[in-house]
Amino acid sequence: MNNSKIWLSSPHMGGTELNYVKEAFDTNWVAPLGPNVNNFEEDLVRFTGAGYVSALSSGTAAIHLALIMLGVKAGDEVICSSFTFSATANPIVYQGAIPVFIDSERDTWNMDPALLEEAIKDCLAKGIRPKAILIVHLYGMPAKMKELMEIAARYEIPVIEDAAEALGSTYNGKALGTFGLMSVLSFNGNKIITTSGGGALLSDNKEYIDRSRFLATQARDEAPHYQHSQIGYNYRMSNICAGIGRGQMEVLSERVEQRRKNHQYYQSQFAGIPSISFLEEGAGFFSNRWLTCILVDGSAGVTREDIRIALEAENIETRPLWKPMHKQPVFEQYPYYGKGVSEELFEKGLCLPSGSNLSPEELQRVADAINRVFAK
Ligand SMILES: *Cc1c(COP(=O)(O)O)cnc(C)c1O
Repeated sequence: MNNSKIWLSSPHMGGTELNYVKEAFDTNWVAPLGPNVNNFEEDLVRFTGAGYVSALSSGTAAIHLALIMLGVKAGDEVICSSFTFSATANPIVYQGAIPVFIDSERDTWNMDPALLEEAIKDCLAKGIRPKAILIVHLYGMPAKMKELMEIAARYEIPVIEDAAEALGSTYNGKALGTFGLMSVLSFNGNKIITTSGGGALLSDNKEYIDRSRFLATQARDEAPHYQHSQIGYNYRMSNICAGIGRGQMEVLSERVEQRRKNHQYYQSQFAGIPSISFLEEGAGFFSNRWLTCILVDGSAGVTREDIRIALEAENIETRPLWKPMHKQPVFEQYPYYGKGVSEELFEKGLCLPSGSNLSPEELQRVADAINRVFAK
């Protein structure tokens, strides 16, 4: 039996990336910045419909700069999805601010609007105005943006959208990454497209994007010498990485299509197992299906861990859903509003191999392995 490794989500090059990287070498634009960076930013503007984009060294850097530009300082409170990857919340603590974690609702697994409002009211009652709301679209599924944006607008709190996992997803036909005052993308190695490592900040407000470029290149004042009147960062994307990004943008739509096909395939393969369920798309919700996730309710005598361990033995990588931030040792002292939804998702959920480069045979190996666990 073929036992070669099947990864959760591995880089998938389109073929033209090397042309852009070679062009950078041929013209000696190996130094940071250069034409690939500008063109990659334009590609992202075109694809998402965002007003302006700056290409940065990571999604984490983009979140950090967004918080800095909103004036988040030590002791401030920032409201944040609890069910996410730690990179969403870390930059809040870089600033010495306090993350206030919000649980998920069951329809999208993202921030629960009712709990968001409860948290805002409590902050205001204490005389604290939250500096920002960090909303995540986990696994590519749009959060309930209508409800969340309405609440944010009512209390006049700026929204930062963490669309790191959601490039190519839309909500009511509008690209994720275009709802926040500022929004964030990631091009890390396991994301839907990759630049080997990188991120971007998006906004309709040009001043934020100009300022993010300034801060990301060490906040250098205009002068012939190196003059600085504020603290800067080394957060810009390199011209080499952006070359990879340009090639990847040519195949992004295909990547979304393929990942959605993976999801459909798994759904059809497990249709006969009532104890496995999937995250469904409501009307107006279009997910890039970055990762296909299943929930295993245990009623068939099979747990999430049974499946994970059985697949591991067959050299197939799977991963439990994100462990909520309010349950992480490093964050557990911070405020949390919730009803245990994300904890239950963490308990029962498993991410299946979801790369756009998986062959039909590999997908079948995964499905067969899971079906065998239930047949035992
Ligand atoms: C990947 C990811 C990030 C961080 O992006 P990097 O480019 O790896 O820094 C932030 N938030 C979420 C939800 C992510 O999945």
